[in-house]
Amino acid sequence: MSKVLIIGAGGVGTVVVHKVAQNHAVFTDILLASRTKSKCDAIADAIGTKYGNKKIQTAQVDADNVPELVALFNNFKPELVINVALPYQDLTIMDACLEAGVNYLDTANYEPKDEAKFEYKWQWAYRDKFKKAGLTAILGCGFDPGVTSVFTAYADKHYFGRMDTLDIVDCNAGDHGKAFATNFNPEINIREVTQKGKYWENGQWVQTEPHEIHKPLTYPNIGPKESYVIYHEELESLVKNFPTLQRARFWMTFGQEYLTHLRVIQNIGMARIDPILYNGVEIVPIQFLKAVLPDPGELGENYTGETSIGCRIQGLDKEGKPFNYYIYNNCLHQDAYKETGAQGVSYTTGVPATIGALMFAKGIWRKPGVFNVEEFDPDPFLEELGKQGLPWREIFNSDLEI
Ligand code: NDP
Repeated sequence: MSKVLIIGAGGVGTVVVHKVAQNHAVFTDILLASRTKSKCDAIADAIGTKYGNKKIQTAQVDADNVPELVALFNNFKPELVINVALPYQDLTIMDACLEAGVNYLDTANYEPKDEAKFEYKWQWAYRDKFKKAGLTAILGCGFDPGVTSVFTAYADKHYFGRMDTLDIVDCNAGDHGKAFATNFNPEINIREVTQKGKYWENGQWVQTEPHEIHKPLTYPNIGPKESYVIYHEELESLVKNFPTLQRARFWMTFGQEYLTHLRVIQNIGMARIDPILYNGVEIVPIQFLKAVLPDPGELGENYTGETSIGCRIQGLDKEGKPFNYYIYNNCLHQDAYKETGAQGVSYTTGVPATIGALMFAKGIWRKPGVFNVEEFDPDPFLEELGKQGLPWREIFNSDLEI
């Protein structure tokens, strides 16, 4: 019996609202708030009461504005806020949670607007404040970060005596029929994939040029796809929480067409995140670009194919024998669209966010402080993952290709 507030009415927000509404026995009252209220209303109207849920309430809020957030929280009195707005809003929403006594969950770590930097230090600095307030903050509860971190914790708990290497492998073999589009917020996505690569090896970070390291990796049911080492935020907490890891990398697939567009966008300055003066008005090129690119939330209708995301881990088993392990989920874009009207990338993010909220509401993932998801028990989360639409599979002692 829990009141939940969702902030952000984009692709991921759409999926979260469907999923919390499906779990209405736990989430009895749902409020969706975002910058543009009409988007919240459209999602609420599309769902109506079709899952047997109460009607979804909606509100307008500027999540950059702490007093506005606090007023909304005090009015609705949620137990938990699911933040699926943009990473820029993480800290203001956490501040408002502390002021109004509300628990917190997100799917992406804080980023300053003027610097594409993916670090947990800003949010980890809230540990003592949340602890003293007796509130829980759950960080990075999407797919990656999120399920990949839970997969790693599950591997450690059940199979490994010592994990030596971790390779997170993320393939989107879907086709949306557009020449160029990003699968989630274009500004956040382009900032992420154009930065320098970085991975963990022998106790330190190794930096690479963007997309410098690449090779084909074979994905279940998909086959070989060129995969590129990029930096991804969960590596930072995973190497801290699993300190035996000698190497930890993140691989993502990109098509040639996507990379060519990306190179052109960068070369002509459209990926710039600093303001420029245009006709006497300050604009940020990447924000302008977002306005002309396809809306990721609208890609679902013609999206075919599937995603495959998982963890490939090598080390020693509980008896000390060499052991390797691959745990993954494949998700079909068409199935995600049929259920929620959103494509697979939004779906694979929104489902785990809802499961994290379920874990919190049931008191299973609830302790005062700020935590990354691998710090909680992975078993009850993974038990729900398949039931909520993302079944997972395991492969033992195969060729990990790494
Ligand atoms: P969208 O851009 O589709 O949606 C973001 C929503 O947040 C929009 O509705 C937007 O409002 C709203 N918003 C932005 N700024 C504010 C503000 N100041 N106040 C209130 N609302 C605001 O993004 P996605 O749904 O694709 O992604 C949502 C989040 O999920 C992002 O943080 C992204 O990084 C994360 N993500 C995580 C993944 C994971 O696996 N962990 C994978 C994919 C995404 P408006 O409609 O007015 O623009």
